[in-house]
Amino acid sequence: SFTIIQNISSGISILYHNNIFINSIFELFDLKIEEKADEKYIDLPKDQGITLELKNVSFTYPHAINPTLKNISITIPEGKIIAIVGLNGAGKSTLIKLLCKLYKPNQGEITMGGTNINSFNELEYRSQISPVFQDFSKYNVTAEDNIRFGDISKPYSEDDIIDASKKSGAHAFVEKFPHQYKTMMGRLFEDGHEVSIGQWQKLAIARALFSSARILIFDEATSALDAVAEKELYDSFRKRISNRSAVIISHRHSAIKHADYIYVLSGGTILQHGTDEELLNMDGDYAKLFKTPNPSS
Ligand code: ADP
Repeated sequence: SFTIIQNISSGISILYHNNIFINSIFELFDLKIEEKADEKYIDLPKDQGITLELKNVSFTYPHAINPTLKNISITIPEGKIIAIVGLNGAGKSTLIKLLCKLYKPNQGEITMGGTNINSFNELEYRSQISPVFQDFSKYNVTAEDNIRFGDISKPYSEDDIIDASKKSGAHAFVEKFPHQYKTMMGRLFEDGHEVSIGQWQKLAIARALFSSARILIFDEATSALDAVAEKELYDSFRKRISNRSAVIISHRHSAIKHADYIYVLSGGTILQHGTDEELLNMDGDYAKLFKTPNPSS
């Protein structure tokens, strides 16, 4: 089913289809979503594990000369939080595009639950993955609908909305809106109520948490939150992660240090990997970037 939603920041109406915000996909990936004939794809088994594995993945953009990703091996285990850290141009967005199946690796393979993701029905596979981007969309609908649009086809109760909202830290301020979850976000803005970027960001995260997607990708998605709010969010997520997993993409230590395991991406290759503690104690790029200088040395 198609739904039209007005986007506050751009003022333009956008199309929402099968749990995918068409405008963000277009904006971010500049690609058409191809709904291919489904016959050659297999359905995701209901009890499919969601551990994602990139095995020796290399990728060169069409018409580009040099590869953007070179021999990447990353494991995103079910129930874990993984971070990918790298400077601008390292290849982080490209990696997300491959994980979302918008491009295919030229070499190597990406598997979910042991099956090559090329075999899965596109839309069904993508419904398992919910990326939250830094330039998330702001929708001129109620606070409740801003969250519910994470999965428009899902039967829900108000409790489900509030649960996602609490996990993301949005509940505390939504409660104070004139009509709580029924408050029109656009109206609030016009009325001169200040809705901060951090608050919009928490709604965008609640939207992802509400969805049935089991792999959440936070692409600089907590950049407007302070360190305390960021910690609360990841602590709360970790407690209820169960059969989900998360990938944090960031260049900020405050975000990535919450991950169980961290990969350092540079120039399209993985330079280092380990836990925050391990990486800080290694003599490498991670420590160079994030280790607070020892005052006595
Ligand atoms: P990051 O997200 O870490 O900043 P990107 O994945 O955006 O890195 O970019 C990695 C490299 O791939 C850059 O050198 C960039 O110029 C190149 N690149 C990105 N998108 C395209 C594209 N559509 N075609 C060709 N090269 C691209």
